[in-house]
Amino acid sequence: MPRSAPVRFFTISSLWVMITPVGFNPLFWIKVFVMTAVTTAELTAALNAVRDAARICRSVQSTIAPDALAKKDKSPVTVADFGSQAVVCRVIGDAFPHDPIIAEEDSRELLNEQNAPFLHLIHDEICKQCIEASKEQVCRWIDRGGAEDYSHRFWTLDPIDGTKGFLRKEQYAISLALVVDGQIVLGALGCPNLPLVPGDDATAGSLFYAIKGQGAFALPLEGEAEPVPVRVSATGDPAQIVLCESVESGHSDHDVSAQIAKSLGISKTPLRMDSQAKYACVARGEADLYLRLPTRADYVERIWDHAGGVLVVEEAGGKVTDVTGKPLDFTHGRGLERNRGVVVSNGLLHDAVLAAVQAAGVS
Ligand code: AMP
Ligand code: MG
Repeated sequence: MPRSAPVRFFTISSLWVMITPVGFNPLFWIKVFVMTAVTTAELTAALNAVRDAARICRSVQSTIAPDALAKKDKSPVTVADFGSQAVVCRVIGDAFPHDPIIAEEDSRELLNEQNAPFLHLIHDEICKQCIEASKEQVCRWIDRGGAEDYSHRFWTLDPIDGTKGFLRKEQYAISLALVVDGQIVLGALGCPNLPLVPGDDATAGSLFYAIKGQGAFALPLEGEAEPVPVRVSATGDPAQIVLCESVESGHSDHDVSAQIAKSLGISKTPLRMDSQAKYACVARGEADLYLRLPTRADYVERIWDHAGGVLVVEEAGGKVTDVTGKPLDFTHGRGLERNRGVVVSNGLLHDAVLAAVQAAGVS
């Protein structure tokens, strides 16, 4: 637990509602409810959970053969994915047994006989972290993440976001968020391969978190350290803008983003990176813009691919919408059913980028 974790019940940004007549202002009560939803208990649990998961991911990643991706060997991802989900759901479920968790995986497949070796490996990895449990208990933890539907308070988890990056030993993230009344109130992103100091690989392993109304912070994944506030860039000059996007062209249309970048006068080579580490890079000003442009008419973005990152960027002063300018809507269960693609910026650029996105015919 960071010593100076800045958890307060009320913030300056909420004072404006307090000076209005309370009896006639439902917004006041909504804000009070949302603000009080995040206490030190939620933050401590979220950071501990993400750190436990990161240890499992790192342990499994250290065993990956260099040609795992070429050989299409997905087994390390499977082991780390389920192991990560199990330990996160263990921590969150023990601390908040009544909170539903909408997570990416479920244990049904693991219980097939042909997958018994996987369950064995997952169990081994969990035991290596000095967490005692039977295989059945591991499956029960994984299935705590099986909520499907929207509820007024729930957690959402991507146990390994950016599985290709994980296999390539590049960027991946563990993303966890708490949503109350449709608003993300707590977001945590563990980025085991992202240097805390951009460009300094010796500092690899970053943890970002944000609390609604209280800012966004970065700290090392391991060890005691003060959280440091992060802030988006103040870059408005197209020549200086760094645009980031998925490595996978199947996840975001690279051709259309190049066209949009050109129309905005952006000349730098895009920063391609897997996972929600892209949100972290915008939040700390390493990049100024993140475009996720639909590649398929029928693809619905999953909430766990965004929730943690969205709050980190917003609380760092940035802006997140879909490609039409609508806020992301976390009230539809597992999918962002009412949104198309995602545009993330330092805020300054947002309107100009949305106009360029629309002019490129993205919808
Ligand atoms: P990234 O690492 O940013 O490329 O995103 C990884 C995430 O992309 C995965 O967790 C998937 O859930 C998600 N994904 C899979 N297919 C698509 C698609 N067609 N469009 C957008 N995202 C996708
Ligand atoms: Mg994902």
